[in-house]
Amino acid sequence: MTPTPPRPAFKPLKPLDDALAQLLAYAQPLARTEQVTTFEADGRVLAQDLVSGLHVPPQDNSAMDGYAVRCADLVAMPVPPLPVSQRIPAGSSGSALAPMTVARIFTGAPIPAGADAVVMQEDCEVHDNASVSINTALQPGQWIRRAGEDVSRGAVVLRKGERLTPASLGLAASVGMNVLAVSARPKVALFSTGDELVMPGTVPPQDMPPGAIYNSNRFFLKALLQRLGCEVSDLGIVPDDRTATTDALRSAAAQHDLILTSGGVSVGEEDHIKPAVQSLGHLDLWQIAIKPGKPFAYGWVGAGAEAGAHFIGLPGNPVSSFVTFLLLVRPFLLKLQGVSQVAIAPVAARADFTWSRADKRREFLRVKRNASGGLDLFPNQSSGVLTSAVWGDGLVDNPPGQTIAPGDVVRFVSFAELLA
Ligand code: AMP
Ligand code: MG
Repeated sequence: MTPTPPRPAFKPLKPLDDALAQLLAYAQPLARTEQVTTFEADGRVLAQDLVSGLHVPPQDNSAMDGYAVRCADLVAMPVPPLPVSQRIPAGSSGSALAPMTVARIFTGAPIPAGADAVVMQEDCEVHDNASVSINTALQPGQWIRRAGEDVSRGAVVLRKGERLTPASLGLAASVGMNVLAVSARPKVALFSTGDELVMPGTVPPQDMPPGAIYNSNRFFLKALLQRLGCEVSDLGIVPDDRTATTDALRSAAAQHDLILTSGGVSVGEEDHIKPAVQSLGHLDLWQIAIKPGKPFAYGWVGAGAEAGAHFIGLPGNPVSSFVTFLLLVRPFLLKLQGVSQVAIAPVAARADFTWSRADKRREFLRVKRNASGGLDLFPNQSSGVLTSAVWGDGLVDNPPGQTIAPGDVVRFVSFAELLA
């Protein structure tokens, strides 16, 4: 009697949260920084705290076009017309306001010494531009923007590890910064694998050979990497061949921080990525309990921490590739750039659909917000159907084993947040 061969030990797939925590631990921020002009810093990550050298606004100034007054002059109602003793446009500074006079003042102009309120011109009656009657009650301080009310001198306006937005560029400029220290762009080598792949533009649709498909992953992956501030080396398509794969990975490792591949990371004989990485370095993470996106891999290509590059292998199926990029590669790349806050919190939303095919894995369903604020489901959730990611405006993060009925509250993450 032949003995039963030993069965491989069952290895449960890694939960997404564990995989992400592990990835983020590997993603130690790059040490390189660079100086860029504030104009060019949108989306970059600040490499040091930004401290303000002045108050913003620098001095008390008018919030309105109108007249600067001394409240003490206006206690008697009705007040006699008061002469206009000076004119202060924005960009100039007036002199001390003489008692029982007003100053013509414009939005942004400094409040003259002695004045303690501004009356907007709509509340004044002007006589020949020479004197003004004021017929409203006054509050001391009204329509005055105080020095330092936005930023005070010495305050940290932006912190190291913050990703710069258009508004933060404006804030940096408001404290006088025309150049900012930011983390260097991660250098990423991008490969697609698969002998079936054809580049759009090389073969017209009517001439595509049997079994061939266009390489779509390469396009969205490159765009996603660029959005995240990476310097991308697009290294094309690697054939399904062990030597070619090993050579491509080896030569990319020296000049890059990360090698990102799509396809070839499953369990078939034509999947050469995994053994190639193992032969050049090590594989630290493989297969995650999510759908789509199970065959995700992380490792290191190269001899040691100094010489080599991070490796991330994405599944070949386009939606799997897209979703795993957003859930795992995005936070990884932000952390490499020193971003302190990489997590995205799902929000509660109402499902306006039925999902009866509960899966063992945590599932990310392509959905779209409808006019009544609920979520509609794309009818085909196959991992090859890229239309779902274009039609949808986000993902429902559905726990393992969970069915969904109309009216259920689900966890929703928008693509807008995941693509920012
Ligand atoms: P793989 O992970 O290599 O087994 O590929 C899984 C599926 O994704 C196969 O149907 C491939 O043809 C498809 N695929 C792999 N790479 C790409 C790509 N770059 N663009 C479009 N489809 C791809
Ligand atoms: Mg393949």
